[in-house]
Amino acid sequence: MLRVLKFGGTSVGTLERIQNVTEIVKKFRNQGDDIVVVVSAMSGETNKLIEYANHYSKTPNEKEMDMLLSSGERVTSALLSISLNEQGFEATSMSGREAGILTTSEHTSARIENIQTKNIKDAINDGKIIIVAGFQGVSTTNHRVTTLGRGGSDLTAVALAGALKADLCEIYTDVDGIYTTDPRLVPKAKKLEKISYDEMLELASLGAKVLQNRSVEMAKKLNVNLVSRSSFTPEIEGTLITKEENIMEKPIVSGIALDRNQVRIGMYGVIDKPGIASSIFTALADAKINVDMIVQTVGTNNTTNLDFTIPSSDLKKTKKVMADFKSDSKNIDYNDAICKVSIVGVGMKSHTGVASKAFSALANENINIRIISTSEIKISMIVDEKYAELAVRSLHDAYELEK
Ligand code: ADP
Ligand code: ASP
Ligand code: MG
Repeated sequence: MLRVLKFGGTSVGTLERIQNVTEIVKKFRNQGDDIVVVVSAMSGETNKLIEYANHYSKTPNEKEMDMLLSSGERVTSALLSISLNEQGFEATSMSGREAGILTTSEHTSARIENIQTKNIKDAINDGKIIIVAGFQGVSTTNHRVTTLGRGGSDLTAVALAGALKADLCEIYTDVDGIYTTDPRLVPKAKKLEKISYDEMLELASLGAKVLQNRSVEMAKKLNVNLVSRSSFTPEIEGTLITKEENIMEKPIVSGIALDRNQVRIGMYGVIDKPGIASSIFTALADAKINVDMIVQTVGTNNTTNLDFTIPSSDLKKTKKVMADFKSDSKNIDYNDAICKVSIVGVGMKSHTGVASKAFSALANENINIRIISTSEIKISMIVDEKYAELAVRSLHDAYELEK
């Protein structure tokens, strides 16, 4: 069988940890499996490289950033290959380019357009273990190295698993699966045996960084058998991310996500005229800013208030865009002392009273909800950052997710 194994930053964080990964790969090899490994940079390495760049510039050239950041995963891919070779296993490392990962030229957040699998397939046929540097590809237009956005090695693994029609794509990290919420935040969180692609996609998009959201989207599209498990306890089975119909018992709420990296932007006293929202949100979209929750309150005296949220990483760009709309309102306020807590579950589609339970749970703790938004399978609430952990814990209790 063909396995794609991905090891995240903490799993390759030290030379000893890479030795541990060597053992996991050897075990599958000795079992007779074909193996493509995808590795992240050592933990902290990508952040360190970003800091280095920021030493010289707050707005470094994005092509140069990709040249810089892609180096982290090249280091670990070569080290793992060297380690396997030394132990008598034939392995070869590949950069994203060598692995045939062709992308758009949106540097620092490129999208995969196509994967040319010839090099990898040839190497598999030669009996080699392939170690691909994650998080990177090559632009089809300017032929420069690109990166796939933070956490992008997950995407490399899933995309390769899809293109190679692998039997399994296992994402090894520092927790042994997907929990009802971040187990570091709520120690009594429960591990899920299975979770649907749609629920996992919501959790990932709403802050659960255990899987990169684009990787889950790709897994769903290509129908990849995706497993999240731990390289620290590889004997423990992880969580399967799969189609909804493969899950017999569908809980109403499957999990809770927390996103601390949100900013709430309030525009007060906006002149209430047709087209104003359209021009603001078009300008934000053109700048590729990911606007999430939007609330417009009922106007008085020909003015209205407009509130919306963006990821903190887009704050600089947003302030630049909003400068053009200064004269359209009395005041624009930026508040980053907030967070977004979300509850996710496919069972919500067919149950009533799910939202009211969440609101009561927060009310009981005297936590004020600033903005609410809902979809078929999720409810998101903006609350003050200081209540982040309390909000997650009280929601976890309210839905009895530890059971
Ligand atoms: P890697 O470096 O292996 O890619 P990440 O740090 O990106 O790992 O993701 C793993 C972390 O995700 C865990 O350490 C855990 O704290 C966090 N996490 C957040 N939400 C969840 C969840 N629902 N289930 C499991 N882990 C979660
Ligand atoms: N090293 C990259 C990051 O830290 C990619 C990854 O780890 O998946 O975002
Ligand atoms: Mg990750």
